Amino acid sequence: MSLVLHGIGVSRGIAIGKAHIIMRGSIEVLESAIPSILIEDEVARFLKAIETARLQLSSIRDRIPVGTRPDIAAFIDTHILMLDDATIVNTPVETIREQGYNAEWALKLQRDAVVGVFEQMNDPYLRTRRDDVDHVINRIQRILQSTSQGDLRSEDSLQGAIVLTDDMTPAETVLLEHQGASAFATEFGGPLSHSAILARSVQLPAIVGAHGLRRYIHDGEEIILDGMQGILIADPGQDIIDHYRELKAQEAQRRAELARLAHTPAVTLDNHAIRLMANIELPEDIDALNRENTSGIGLYRTEFLFMNRVSLPDEEEQYLSYTRVIDTLNGKPLTIRTLDMGADKEIDGSGSRCSNPALGLRAVRLCLKDLSLFCPQLRAILRASAHGPVRLMIPMLSNTRELHQVLTLIRDAENALQREGLAFDPNIQIGGMIEVPAAAISAMDFARRLDFLSIGTNDLIQYTLAIDRVDDAVNYLYDPLHPSVLRLIKIVIDAGKETGIPVAMCGEMAGDARYTRLLLGMGLTEFSMHHSAMQEVKRVINDSSISELIPRVDTLLQSTEPEQLPTEIEALNHPPA
Ligand code: PEP
Ligand code: MG
Repeated sequence: MSLVLHGIGVSRGIAIGKAHIIMRGSIEVLESAIPSILIEDEVARFLKAIETARLQLSSIRDRIPVGTRPDIAAFIDTHILMLDDATIVNTPVETIREQGYNAEWALKLQRDAVVGVFEQMNDPYLRTRRDDVDHVINRIQRILQSTSQGDLRSEDSLQGAIVLTDDMTPAETVLLEHQGASAFATEFGGPLSHSAILARSVQLPAIVGAHGLRRYIHDGEEIILDGMQGILIADPGQDIIDHYRELKAQEAQRRAELARLAHTPAVTLDNHAIRLMANIELPEDIDALNRENTSGIGLYRTEFLFMNRVSLPDEEEQYLSYTRVIDTLNGKPLTIRTLDMGADKEIDGSGSRCSNPALGLRAVRLCLKDLSLFCPQLRAILRASAHGPVRLMIPMLSNTRELHQVLTLIRDAENALQREGLAFDPNIQIGGMIEVPAAAISAMDFARRLDFLSIGTNDLIQYTLAIDRVDDAVNYLYDPLHPSVLRLIKIVIDAGKETGIPVAMCGEMAGDARYTRLLLGMGLTEFSMHHSAMQEVKRVINDSSISELIPRVDTLLQSTEPEQLPTEIEALNHPPA
């Protein structure tokens, strides 16, 4: 008898494979006293666990396919290096010898001491290193306790597996894909989390918020994951497996049909050219993108350059990364967003130490607070602008003071580069993301001071509706069609028209073909999305007439019946015969 579990589908696609369960709840560590005669045996047991951890990690390291991004390998190297660290190895050995504790307890005491130091650090980046310490220590604990579960970087190959876990960090999502998993499902997390965005980006079918899944599904059993419907089917009968194989084949066919649109320009039936741009997370994403007919990159999320590594990328490394992307774009613009660290991109859940990370020190706020993080990036972006059209985009602006501060820093950086004889584009386009309701309402103030705007609906919806985008408990309130969200979007689009500057949308809403006609009718002419969404959106654009949509959407936006909006908007997708 099959069992169906429901979650939220965040990345479409069907996977049929074996469940690989990752249990990561806190590891229970018990204290016990070791008789003095057995102390050296206990020390030997501890040191053996360290060696086993090293072997496990080295074997993962060796199996990273050639050509994998260097940051993935660096992530594992960091953990291997930690196993040589005296803090992790020597102190527990001393504790076992001097206090007669068991190895697990000695390691736990040291873990608590190290983590305590990390938590006192003000630097959010350094604080995230705490999670690396935890990962390594948890691995050793599990070896000591002879449990193999709980580590994404386990020595088992994930080839074809459907990974089931509590939550997934963005860094782990990248790693998972590289380990050959065919899909993942989490018990927690929301559709707008960066892990969900990455899953779509690497086209890994995924479901979030499937509560209790690890209770009902056994490790190794065959299951089906449907990322479109947001369901997991355990114990499927042969007829269900056959049905999903058929759906999988249809999905492949649909993708093949859409692929034919790759080189068709995006032009409406009444001849309006629409700019379709791409969102990228890593320079490597460009390879897939070059197969599309895009108008450039509308959002380059640079924070992914900063993840999974021991030290921050310096100006030179960033400059080289950016120019690598520019060189592949053949003169099309590259919109580089300045660092948007913080909230769920704090890496591995360190947000728990900040009571409300989404409302805290993230994005431009963090950059303005930590100029050692921000200024090298501004210089790198400016220097890259000498190689091709670059647009510098500032995330999460909430008032014009922040904007002035950033503009001053940019001018200072330009002056310094000039003095140093380093080239940059003096006319570099500078834009801002409108992601905070306050900024949307004041869009005119930003539009007058900037060269372009881009609407980040992921955050705009989160902040407008007061729902944490990674909290699955409030996912049901996520609603791009909420009248207030639509009104804010309209304000921004209209501000662009009034001031004559381009306005794009780069949140997930832009890549959702269900909303394409609505947005065209609201006057949006620039869309930026992950390349996998482009062909579907383009199909809708090429089949739409803006002149027909504008009056229909105008009427719809005046509606006093918000409950009817989804149905009315759905009706836009069925043009009158
Ligand atoms: C957004 O908020 O819509 C956006 C594009 O930025 P991010 O998802 O990276 O926060
Ligand atoms: Mg955002």
